[in-house]
Amino acid sequence: SFSFVKPPRNTSFKKLQESDINYFRSFLDSHSILTDKESITPFNQDWNKIFHGETQLVLQPKTTEQLAKIMKYCNEQKIAVVPQGGNTGLVGGSVPVHDEIVVSLNKMNKVLSFDQNTQVVTVEAGCILEALNDYLKPFNCEVPVDLAAKGSCQIGGNIATHAGGIRLIKYGPLKAHVLGLEIVTPTGQILDLTNTMRKDNTGFDLKQLFIGSEGTLGIITKANVAAFKQDKLNNLILVQCKDFNQALQVRNEAKSFLGKDISALEYLDGITLDIVLNNSRGKTYNPFTNMQDNDKKAYILIEISCNYNIEEVVERLFNRLEELGIYEDMVSSQSEEQYKMLWHLRDGVAEAVVHIGSNVAYDISCDPKYFGEITNIMRERCKQIAETTSCGHIGDGNLHLMFAAHNEECVKKMEEEHEKFLYDWVKSVGGSISAEHGIGLQKRPYLWEHKNQVALDYMKKLKEVFDPNHILNPYKIV
Ligand code: FAD
Repeated sequence: SFSFVKPPRNTSFKKLQESDINYFRSFLDSHSILTDKESITPFNQDWNKIFHGETQLVLQPKTTEQLAKIMKYCNEQKIAVVPQGGNTGLVGGSVPVHDEIVVSLNKMNKVLSFDQNTQVVTVEAGCILEALNDYLKPFNCEVPVDLAAKGSCQIGGNIATHAGGIRLIKYGPLKAHVLGLEIVTPTGQILDLTNTMRKDNTGFDLKQLFIGSEGTLGIITKANVAAFKQDKLNNLILVQCKDFNQALQVRNEAKSFLGKDISALEYLDGITLDIVLNNSRGKTYNPFTNMQDNDKKAYILIEISCNYNIEEVVERLFNRLEELGIYEDMVSSQSEEQYKMLWHLRDGVAEAVVHIGSNVAYDISCDPKYFGEITNIMRERCKQIAETTSCGHIGDGNLHLMFAAHNEECVKKMEEEHEKFLYDWVKSVGGSISAEHGIGLQKRPYLWEHKNQVALDYMKKLKEVFDPNHILNPYKIV
């Protein structure tokens, strides 16, 4: 396990006392208060095991009112608080930096209602994403967000980070589909912004401020989300290309050729495919026969979803790529089992990286034409200290560079010698240093260089408005 250089503790925050815990005991049952070391350890550590906190207390309220009472007290007492969902975040936003108490949404996890006419689902923030989609399955519906952490991440966490994921290409950004939110503010007010109407232009759209604010402005307790009818048919195609340039052509062609029938468009390079295959523990397989020069190859995963004639759509796409001569080999899923295994080649990258080293992950946006170039540059720079994997949501111009660093020294080197280089490069091509994971603690030092001063000043003013004592998720973003 590795430690990250922490900003110093804000000494104006109160250190937790027994009397504070006794106050929480006055309205929370014993299962909602965790103080023993074994139970609180997982809340102190992020998914990548890079960020470690020192909380002594985890609170798991069951109602919005209980949470509001917690926040009112913490604000009065100046006790710092970190909201935590499924703790799958990748930028150190969900764990305490020092001794902040953790407020977990684990016990607020119910789906409250689903209106079949409007297709709006109302759900508590702590509902696991996969459980929410399981609930919607009998109605042939799904929420418009999906990602590899779906078995652990919560809808509240997805909204708080404005998660992107694999369905953005089909449905657009999540913020377009969150119709309403209920928020507990850092001062303990209940801010009711719930709404089930698709159209509601009644003044400032305050809920948008909380989408992507990573738990720094308020705690999301409830959400109204527009669900979508699932297409009846789907098929997954994995295309093997001789190099990145060919893969880029496949990406562009698939996007324009398939239009609305595309439901995911992903990329990984040959070296990354090998790393997944070598660390998949039976969860996937290699569908290709020619693996010569695989380190130069690149792969595009195309998911097609539609309601009729899917075989025809797949065949027409195959013919088109054949006609253009821009691939080496192609497979399409013939069964549910094969569909899952092919998906795991892309989904399993983070898991494989964590298996072989410490995952130092970068999540950038740029024109997809640069994906191959920046991968080669970074792989060459970091070859002594880490295995470099390169994958991402290429349909949306989102590249994930994940480095399996060999040891603690190598993690430090990544941060000190290569991180700034990467972010300067991103800036030079007009990209973003955080496509979908957020800023959290990890990217905070770089935010100041990548956002203009006026924008930053307004962000700070907004923080001041909602959280005058700066107790909510301190040390993150602003
Ligand atoms: P947490 O990790 O618990 O918290 C994340 C942030 O949100 C923290 O700052 C926390 O304070 C805040 N927060 C959580 N819940 C609330 C709430 N109710 N109210 C206010 N603030 C809250 N992300 C993507 O965007 N796209 C991907 O494709 C993707 N793939 C991933 C794959 C893997 C294997 C893993 C481990 C992560 C992936 N992520 C991805 C990152 C992560 O899963 C998402 O950011 C997810 O949305 C976080 O949800 P969570 O419930 O785990 O939140």
